[in-house]
Formats: sequence, structure tokens, C-alpha cells
Amino acid sequence: MPRIYLDNNATTPVHPDVIEAMLPFYRNSFGNPSCIHWAGKAVKGALEKARMQVASLVNCAPAEVVFTSGGSESINTAIKGVAAARRTRGNHIISTRVEHSAVFNCCRYLEKEGFRVTYLEVDSEGMLDLHALATAVTDQTVLIAAMYANNETGVIFPVHEIGEIASQRGVYFMCDAVQAAGKVPVNFKELRANLMALSGHKLYAPKGVGALIIRDGTQFRPLIHGGPQERNRRAGTENVAGIVGFGKACEIAEASLHFEGERLCRLRDMMESGIETSITDVKRNGHPVRRLPNTSNLSFGNVYAELLLEELDKEGIAVSAGSACAAGSREQSRVLSAMGMDGASMRSAVRISFGRENTEKDVEYLLGLLPVMVKRLRNKG
Ligand code: PLP
Repeated sequence: MPRIYLDNNATTPVHPDVIEAMLPFYRNSFGNPSCIHWAGKAVKGALEKARMQVASLVNCAPAEVVFTSGGSESINTAIKGVAAARRTRGNHIISTRVEHSAVFNCCRYLEKEGFRVTYLEVDSEGMLDLHALATAVTDQTVLIAAMYANNETGVIFPVHEIGEIASQRGVYFMCDAVQAAGKVPVNFKELRANLMALSGHKLYAPKGVGALIIRDGTQFRPLIHGGPQERNRRAGTENVAGIVGFGKACEIAEASLHFEGERLCRLRDMMESGIETSITDVKRNGHPVRRLPNTSNLSFGNVYAELLLEELDKEGIAVSAGSACAAGSREQSRVLSAMGMDGASMRSAVRISFGRENTEKDVEYLLGLLPVMVKRLRNKG
């Protein structure tokens, strides 16, 4: 049975060249980068090379890159760190109803600590209303926390406009670019964000490594206190092999960004038009154009997504219902619910996300099975 992985927004397989780049740091180059002897120096150089590779992918200064354990830590550091540092200025945060749990639950936590959070609505296509954002800003607002691209629908927010509003009003902007980096061009310098979260395992690096990009001069308090690593912005001996792998993955992503983006878009469009012609009552969720090239979120009328997932899994195909975190928890998708979808459409929503290992053959295999499965599940229901 073939194994076809179509869940690349949940995580990606580590690129073989990334593994190669990491191996020496498990074998011989074991030094602590803070040590000034030969063993430390050899490793320190690799860390700084990775910093440059990450900075180059997202167009920021290498000094603005702070290595972390991943997207969630970067987001926690950004939101809680800004809230603590700017508390005397105000206690209002603006976010949206479709953020990843890392952002959402940081905001919920801060609400318990006395902050007021405005969760902006989205429309039926998952798009943000910039006018509503601008009117939500008050003289108490210290931070706007919003995502670049949505993990469930792939919808891309107007992040440059968000950054513009934030900078005009003197409010910090934290952009969760975990799903965007490596899939679409991300330009930190032009974004006018103060902070931006990245995660390695979404772009073919290992799990447990990521970065927080912090614009020079941004007021924030570190989350993890200890040694002076990362210029006092994140304590702890660095995950050297992971960071080296993350750097290599960023280098590969930068070199293949346009080509790979177009290729994934072609695969996704081939799949969507194939489904459209072979299956009735299918609805695409999210903005039709402003979305990631690799992501498709579809509701199959009168089909339970979980049952369809099981059927696909039996044939070796891995897809997801809603977000990876929500899957299995039987909770309703916060994202689809914010888009005003009814319960039945939400329960029948499947996320298919392509990656670098997928080919047209995978799409053909899926299209060969899906119409029959959907028909069978509909007859059962
Ligand atoms: N933000 C978004 C949009 C995500 O999709 C994810 C992971 O699914 C995260 C943040 C959390 O990243 P990590 O898994 O590296 O903690």
C-alpha cells in the first residue's frame, strides 16, 4: 500500500539534506557554543551561519533572530513578553478569532492577568476587516497579535496593511508566520511587525526548533531566564543540531520558494478541479485566491470528516480534519466556526495540505479513491 502524506500543515518530513547538515553536531561537534575553546568555537560558527540562513529567508537582520524551541515558545515569548514590558502603557491587546491555539491561549491567559483582549471577527471567507481593526485600536492598545496564514484554511491575512495600521498608531504587531514562512515570500523588513514567530518543523526541519524575530529596539521581557544566550533574550544552551537543521531548511526553502510554490499550487488545483468534477456537494472553505499554495479545506456534504479520514488512512492517505491540534479532541474548529459555518459543514471539513514529496501521482491516487468513499459514506449516513 502506498503511503501518501497530505498533512504538511501539521508537520513536514525532515529534508534529507537537513539531516546531513545536522549529523556532525550529534557526532563530533558536540561543544557548547558559549565556551571559548576549540570545541565551543566550532559550534558557535555553525550557529551564526544558521542565524544568517534564517534571516535571509525572511529578510531581517541576523541579530534580530532569536532561536527558540518552536512556534509556541516564540509566540508565548512575544505576547507575554510585550504585555509585561508595556503594561504601564496600556492593557489592551487585539487578536483575531482564527488564531492558532498558541496565540489564542496566550491571550486567554493574559485576560486572567487583567488584560482586555479584542478578538476580531472574520468574514465567511476567513478574511479580516481592516476597518474593524483600525477602529478597535485605543490609546490603551499595546499589541496586535495576528497570523500571516491560517493553518486550517491557508487564508493569508493582509499582514502588510495590519503592520501599517500598527505602526501608524504606535502599537506593536506580532505576526505568527509559522505557516507562511517557506511557502510564500515573507519580508520582515517590509512587514512593519515588531515580532514574528517561525517554526522549523513546518518547513522540513526537525520538531522542537524555531525562531522569534525581534525588531531591534522592541520592548519585551524574556520568557526563559538563565544564562546570557541569544543576547539575553532566551536563556539555555542552544539546540545546536536543531538550529543547524533549521538554518539549512531555510536555505533550501529560499532557493526553491517560487518554483515549489507554483508546483504545489498546480497539484492543489488539479486535486480541487478533479474533486469538483467527480463529487457533488463539495464546498471549498476560505478565500479562493488569498491563500497558501499548498492548502485546501473542503466540506463534503453529508459526510463525517472523521469517517472519511479513517477510510483514507486505511488506503495509506494521511489528511486532517480541521487543525492538527483540534483533530481527535472532537472540539469544533474555532476557525471554521468564526467563518460562520454551520455544524454540518464543519463536521464534514477536511484539510489537505501538500508538500515537497507530493507528486501528480498522489493526486491521481486520491482522486481514484475519493468519489467511491464519499458515495459509500453518504449511503451509510
Ligand atoms: N502557529 C501556527 C499558525 C501553527 O500552525 C502552529 C503549529 O501547528 C503553531 C503556531 C505552533 O508551532 P509549534 O508546533 O512549532 O509550537
